[in-house]
Amino acid sequence: MVAGKVYIIGAGPGDPELITVKGKRLIEEADLILYTDSLVNEELVANPKPGAVVEKSAGLTLEEIVARMVEVAEAGGSVARVHTGDPAVYGAILEQIVHLNEAGIEWEIVPGVSSVFAAAAVLGAELTVPELTQTLILTRAEGRTPVPEGEKLADLAKHGATIALFLSATLMEKVVSELREAGWSDDTPVAVVQRATWPDQIILRSTVGEVAGEMKRLGIRSHAMVLAGKALDESLQWSHEHKSKLYDKSFAHRYRRAVKETGLPGGSSEGETAATADHPPADGVKTAVRGEL
Ligand code: SAH
Repeated sequence: MVAGKVYIIGAGPGDPELITVKGKRLIEEADLILYTDSLVNEELVANPKPGAVVEKSAGLTLEEIVARMVEVAEAGGSVARVHTGDPAVYGAILEQIVHLNEAGIEWEIVPGVSSVFAAAAVLGAELTVPELTQTLILTRAEGRTPVPEGEKLADLAKHGATIALFLSATLMEKVVSELREAGWSDDTPVAVVQRATWPDQIILRSTVGEVAGEMKRLGIRSHAMVLAGKALDESLQWSHEHKSKLYDKSFAHRYRRAVKETGLPGGSSEGETAATADHPPADGVKTAVRGEL
């Protein structure tokens, strides 16, 4: 008998086109599709193969979820366990993995577009703006789920990095007081995207001082990504001030020689920028320069 397998698939933030090609194929080939809550777009599970079982997992216990997956996989079937965004962030997948391991079931994670990146996209924001911040912190406000010592928002915010808050829409007063405690001024930008990439998406551009009240007024209490920090300043989109070294003509990196004022190749050998992997060499452009930035 062919061994079955469980695929833990990231569905993306909502727009059904924001799933990976692989995730979509595995859903369409699955014998059992188990998808999470209202944040997985039902369009993604609307074309199961004939005979496949499609089920919501919201009303099931962990034991019930695992039992269904194990039953199908042991019979040689393929299971698509579909999670919102990317499964690795607040996906509660570890507890499922432990059970699958115990049952000797093979599994694989297929990543997805997390809501943090979908929110950044609809805001038109770069979260790592040169000279403002080169760090992004993914976290949540402390509510009923405690956060470990050392990870209090007031401590994390002291870094001045961009902060992405999941699962925090109902805790914004606490969020604001911790940001203030970390020294953030009331005019620091905060952007909130509710149901990013869904037809009823709401975008709120606000500040530390105003955001809690504005969210309350708009009734944003769930399904919201909160992005905070200087990088969220919308006016940056019209400013030439914050450039990376990547396209700086006086700066050499792996795929391009620096151009001196003379216009001849040479110059800086400060090396590769972190982003060069995204920028393959143009035809015929080679450089011996290589290093760390
Ligand atoms: N794994 C998911 C996160 C699951 S936790 C991911 O990678 O996105 C659920 C939280 O994610 C929500 O409380 C909200 O903060 C955020 N979220 C998920 N989908 C969202 C969307 N479409 N728009 C805004 N926030 C979203």
